[in-house]
Amino acid sequence: MGSKMKLKLAIQKSGRLHEDSIKLLKECGIDISNGANKLKTEATNFPLEVFFLRDDDIPQYVEDAVADIGIVGENVVYEKNKSVELVEKLGFAPCRLSLAVSRGENYRDVKYLEGKKIATSYPSLVQKYLDEHKINAEIHEISGSVEIAPGIGLADAICDLVSSGSTLLTNGLKEVETILNSQAILIRNKKLSDPHQQLLNKLLFRIQAVKKARNNKYVLLNAPNDKLKEIISLLPGMKSPTVLPLADEGWSSVHSVLSEDEFWDKIEQLKAAGAQGILVVPIEKMVI
Ligand code: ATP
Ligand code: ZN
Repeated sequence: MGSKMKLKLAIQKSGRLHEDSIKLLKECGIDISNGANKLKTEATNFPLEVFFLRDDDIPQYVEDAVADIGIVGENVVYEKNKSVELVEKLGFAPCRLSLAVSRGENYRDVKYLEGKKIATSYPSLVQKYLDEHKINAEIHEISGSVEIAPGIGLADAICDLVSSGSTLLTNGLKEVETILNSQAILIRNKKLSDPHQQLLNKLLFRIQAVKKARNNKYVLLNAPNDKLKEIISLLPGMKSPTVLPLADEGWSSVHSVLSEDEFWDKIEQLKAAGAQGILVVPIEKMVI
């Protein structure tokens, strides 16, 4: 491996994915200087070169091996249908690609769309959905402000990305079908060289540790010794909880890890079982 060999990563130059992509690198311990108008930059402490691109171009650059890997929304990857491989779901920028019609419309099911005009920036995903449901409809591809199309008489329906739904609401639209759920993902070129693959593995190891840490909390609590057994039985921990005696005789301090999805239930059960002084701390990295 030459000492100058670097992994080339493409991320969005500006927009909804930009900051979370940089944040993920930072949490992986990778420092990059993020000059606003730069096309590319290099990490100072990891063999990584970062390219700043429009999100729409990232799948193509990764297919062509201009970049080895990229961070981009699933919606873009599936719309562009390039030959790239999914490495890891990253858990940020959640959204859905949905069909919407004017709020006053009497929409029952997808048959409503037969013979209608649909405005979208995702023509190939919409066409695929229509084909699967055996619907003939006319697709109007537009690159932005899709949500105004019904209001100006350009289309009967739209298909666009939705997160909170507030854009639809302010434009008098209602969401009627979800055709894709999306989040940011890491993609890679299909033919990475071995040294590049090794660098990717190293990066991936860190990403997974960051993801796990985000989904878990470190919990410290005080337990009367006669309740210790019951309290410990409620806690999973990485191996088993850590139990330390307190200066106050008859009491122990218990340390453990709880996952986000069971968190509140467990806290209630722990309190009910006699735990006191419960302290919850974020975890920065988690390697199992
Ligand atoms: P670019 O200038 O890079 O082409 P863009 O305007 O196409 O940017 P953004 O609006 O920044 O893209 O969105 C980037 C990605 O963020 C989307 O492709 C999608 O995966 C994700 N996303 C999450 N929530 C939303 C949302 N409510 N609307 C649009 N995109 C969203
Ligand atoms: Zn874009």
